[in-house]
Formats: sequence, structure tokens, C-alpha cells
Amino acid sequence: MDAKKLGTLAVHAGEDETLAVPSTTTPVYLATTYRFPDAAEAAAYLDAPEGRWLYARLENPTVLAAERKIAALEQAEAALCFSSGMAAITATLLSALRAGDALLLCDTVYGQTTRLASDVLARYGVDVRTVPLHSLAGAVAEAPASARALLFETPTNPTLRVVDVPAVAAACRARGVLSVLDATFASPVNLRALPMGVDLVVHSTTKFLNGHSDHLGGAVAGRKELVDRVAAIRRSTGGNLDPAAAYDLIRGMKTLEVRVLRQNDTALRMARALEGHAKVAWVRHPFLPSHPDHALARRLLAGGGGVLSFSVRGGFEAVARVHDALRIVARASSLGGVESLASIPVISSHRHASDADLAAQGIDRGTLRVSVGLEDPDDLVADLLQALERA
Ligand code: PLP
Repeated sequence: MDAKKLGTLAVHAGEDETLAVPSTTTPVYLATTYRFPDAAEAAAYLDAPEGRWLYARLENPTVLAAERKIAALEQAEAALCFSSGMAAITATLLSALRAGDALLLCDTVYGQTTRLASDVLARYGVDVRTVPLHSLAGAVAEAPASARALLFETPTNPTLRVVDVPAVAAACRARGVLSVLDATFASPVNLRALPMGVDLVVHSTTKFLNGHSDHLGGAVAGRKELVDRVAAIRRSTGGNLDPAAAYDLIRGMKTLEVRVLRQNDTALRMARALEGHAKVAWVRHPFLPSHPDHALARRLLAGGGGVLSFSVRGGFEAVARVHDALRIVARASSLGGVESLASIPVISSHRHASDADLAAQGIDRGTLRVSVGLEDPDDLVADLLQALERA
């Protein structure tokens, strides 16, 4: 493809142009195995598997189309799809670490990622070291010689802190530490992480990339040499994306840019409507000037993203009343879909966090997170304002 702009790539990149039927969409290939014309071809697969087909855990045309599209969106040499974001993160970390290696894990990452490191990888001899979000580059510079990989996220959940990605990537490169960024909240529309020097970018494709709350999946993208190592882990551990789910992902990605641009605008508009409201203690959205990382966000991100969070005065009882009074925004976890969703971190993502942990992350018991969908922005603002009357 000659086109370079994300919107064009999202529609066209990766689609199979060699089909016998000149279909405009890539079909769902359900076959688990492929026919060889003769023994010579079967033997050729062993030496040169690229462009040949053996078995669906190794390669599937629909999944490959999704992977090519993600690689194009991320400006990556290669990408791989998985059955969930966690499967992608697991295979990525397994590809980089062995017993005795240190994994630098940012203190503000998805809860299950923290548990993967502390409850699973640590059992196999990985030395998991938690590093603070506000000084990641410094922590990498001071890390022990055994440090092999850093995993971090931006923007973070739910206060949408933004990391200086180029500075952190440069610190990792200087120390020979593999930098892995979970950019699920940003999506490639708002952040192209690889040109900023990150080694591997991972996504829960369950969120913005699919965008319709009807697909569970994950992806990793980066240089071919690094992605090939992850592919070797996927061959052994499975965790492949199902071809039907790959189709949903491909279809979702075609509208990624228009969805995310609209979600960026609506989220900022909702954040502005809430800021200064008598019943709201604070509002977080990276593109609000009051956000602690506002200048960084404006420099690094093309848009502030479709998620915002705010604190209702009066703590948990008050936020629960607001949550329960919502009429359009659904009471549900997850993010990035076409329908707006609201969740209360202290009874969802942060249910295990102590008051001290919550305070360190800038969250309180009155915090509500909203993932903004594609409903009319006026209706969404009105829904939040009417719900706040119950606070
Ligand atoms: N990374 C982030 C930032 C997430 O928010 C999530 C899920 O919410 C995951 C990873 C895990 O993705 P999945 O649920 O697709 O396994």
C-alpha cells in the first residue's frame, strides 16, 4: 500500500487481495489445517514457512489480515494477535524473560497484569520490581544489570496519567532493557508508540481497536525480530485469536479513526461540563489544562482519549447514587466501545487497593470512570448532569 495516513490504512491495509473471489472483505477461514499439493511442498514448509500454510495454531489467513492491519496502524514491521489482551501480554513477557531476570513493572498498570507478574512470573524465578510511574526513566537508569524488560501503560487507568514515552524508551535502550508499552487506552489514533522508540506495543483489542464490545482479543506489534520471538511462544502456549473474532476485529478497525476522533471530542466536552460543577471534586482528562500531565499529553498524544474520570463529593454513597441514576451510560466495566460505560474503580478495577494506594494513585471512594461511546454528546452531558442531581 502506498497510503500512509491512518484512516486509509485502517480501511485497506492487511486485506487479502489475492482471493479467488474478489471479495471486498477478508473471509473467515475456519479451517484448522491446509492441503499440500505434494510432498515437496510439505517439505518446503519446514525450510520456508512464510507464505505457506500448515496448521491454524501456526497461521490463519483471517488472523493474518488482522495482524497486517495492526502492523500498518502501528507502523510496525510485524504484529501478532491473541485470544485476549492478557494472552498477548503473557506471551510478550515470556518471550523476553527467563529465571533470574528482573522485570520492571510500572506501579500503575492493569490489575491482572500486576497479578500475572507477582503470582505467575515470580513463581518461575522472575524478579519482579515495581517502579513508580512518575520517575520511570530514572528507575530504568538505576535498575540492576539483570533488568530485561519494562512494562508500562499510557494513559493509565483511571486518572489518565501520561508517561514521557520517548524519554522512557530512550532510557530502556541505553540499558538494553526491552520497553513494552500497553497502549490500550490511547489506541494508535492517539499514540504511535513505536516511532517514539518503544520496542513492543501491546493492546487489549477488546477495547478501542474492535470498538463494539463484541470481541475479546489482544495484539503485540514491533520489529519482526522481536515479534518472531513472541510468535515462538504463541506456537507453544496457544492463545491464538479465533478467526471469527479476527473478522470482528478487522471490521472494527476500519472505523477506528472516526470512532476515536469522536470519542476524544465527546470525552473532552463531558470533562469540561463537569469541571467546576458544585458536586464534583475533580475531573481528569489528559486534554483538560488542569490535568497534571496536560503539557506532556498535548505534546505526545494526537487526542486525549475517550475515557474520563471524576470524583463526586460525598464519597462512595454519593457516587453510587450517581452511577445508579445514569439512563444512557451503561453501568459496566471495560472501555472503548460504541456505547458509553461507567464503572466505580473502588468496586471494580481498584477493589483490592488500600486507602493509601488509592491516595497514591489520585483516586478516592467517590471516583467514577466513564468510557465515552458514540451517542450524541449533548445527550451524554445531559445524562451525567441529571445523574449528578442525585449525588
Ligand atoms: N491492558 C489494559 C490497559 C486493560 O484495560 C485490559 C483489560 O481491561 C487488559 C490489558 C487486558 O485485556 P483483556 O481483557 O482483553 O485480556
